[in-house]
Amino acid sequence: MTPIVTRFAPSPTGYLHAGNYRTAVFAYLSAKHSGGKFIVRIEDTDVARSSPEYEASIFETLTWLKLSPDETYRQSEHRPRHRELLEKLVKDDTAYVSKETPQAPGDREEVIRFRNPGGTVTFMDIIHGEITTDITDLGDFIIARSFDEPVFHFAVVVDDADEGVNHVIRGGDHISNTARQMLIQQALGLPMLLYAHLPLIFGDNHKKLSKRSGAKPLSEYRDQGILPEAMLNYIAFLGWNPGDKREYLSREELIEAFGLSRVQKGSAIFDEVKLLSVNQHWMRKLSDDDFLAHLKVGHRMSDFYAEQLRKAVPLLKERAHTFAEAREMLSGELSCLFNESILDRALLVAKELPKRVGMTKLALESLLGAIQSLPESLSTEAVKEALMPLGNAEEAKGKGGRGAVLWPLRYALSGQERSPDPFTLVAILGKEVALARIQKAIGILGE
Ligand code: GLU
Repeated sequence: MTPIVTRFAPSPTGYLHAGNYRTAVFAYLSAKHSGGKFIVRIEDTDVARSSPEYEASIFETLTWLKLSPDETYRQSEHRPRHRELLEKLVKDDTAYVSKETPQAPGDREEVIRFRNPGGTVTFMDIIHGEITTDITDLGDFIIARSFDEPVFHFAVVVDDADEGVNHVIRGGDHISNTARQMLIQQALGLPMLLYAHLPLIFGDNHKKLSKRSGAKPLSEYRDQGILPEAMLNYIAFLGWNPGDKREYLSREELIEAFGLSRVQKGSAIFDEVKLLSVNQHWMRKLSDDDFLAHLKVGHRMSDFYAEQLRKAVPLLKERAHTFAEAREMLSGELSCLFNESILDRALLVAKELPKRVGMTKLALESLLGAIQSLPESLSTEAVKEALMPLGNAEEAKGKGGRGAVLWPLRYALSGQERSPDPFTLVAILGKEVALARIQKAIGILGE
């Protein structure tokens, strides 16, 4: 296999979204799979629209995704070389300085145009197969606004050749640019390149992924607590699959499995729900220590809080799809693991009938006894085994069902209408806290 030398060539004119980074991911994986090179070239020749802030965010995201470039370039640094080759084309008379009639304020009076030979240009796209473009209607197209201001088509061709690129992997929206770029390449006597134009990506709103249709910059997903492993895994599957049933691939597995030959022609959908489930998979794979480190609970913790937090990790792994969601759970449905809530007597007995109060009290008292006889260190399973018979017995009596026991228990422990199941709560809170909270609930009933 020839090593693929390819580049990701973003223009730093805005925050890039997942669709833009998909190009980077496919280029990176192609290069690494073949033992080639992944180059990043910042295409900053549009001075008015490029900004260092956008450039910084591109590198930040690439670093986050661990797509480390083998070489990096900034297009604007190649101006002297662009000038040299523009002058060569003009000298050869393949291009010429054209006098223009300005149509609008700011229009140039002179630009450099390429002499269009007319006819058709054909190339073999790795993904789409043979593509033929009739270039006649393009006329003599502009390749520079001045000798120091080449347009994108010219700069790209020169840089690709100078950087030793042999594969151009980029978005399908560039298909129509390829013919022009190949003409410039031939005129300069530069080597031919192989092209792979990637399928377009649509958002769940079925609009082409773009900032205008609501695509978020990738950094927002990072801030929300999407793991880079998950994002890389998810993006790699936008228009590609490994040809087997696997859905979750690590970086190494992706490098091993990736090939442009399996990239689909049809468009792909960026589905946030799917991204969240991929993220949940990678969150669950983290060790508890790593999970806690990602959770970044900002405040200084008491020993009790830290201990409870550690015990909550399995629950968070089971329920949360992002770390932001996990943090919300800690202050919402899992807050009972850390703080006691004020109990509402009406909720404790479900229906405030005098008979019901008595039943609830009895149920809680029998739970107290059962919990007291549990060992100090508790597993959810052991708690369930010890307490479930109390619920079953109630059900056998045909009165309120298991709920007549399990609801007051869960509410007494959590003080919340939504919380983990009561067995999990007893196991995480520990005997002492669980007993104290149940005592308190009994106290309320006795008033
Ligand atoms: N700078 C171009 C863009 O951001 C990419 C050029 C290319 O990949 O050839 O769309």
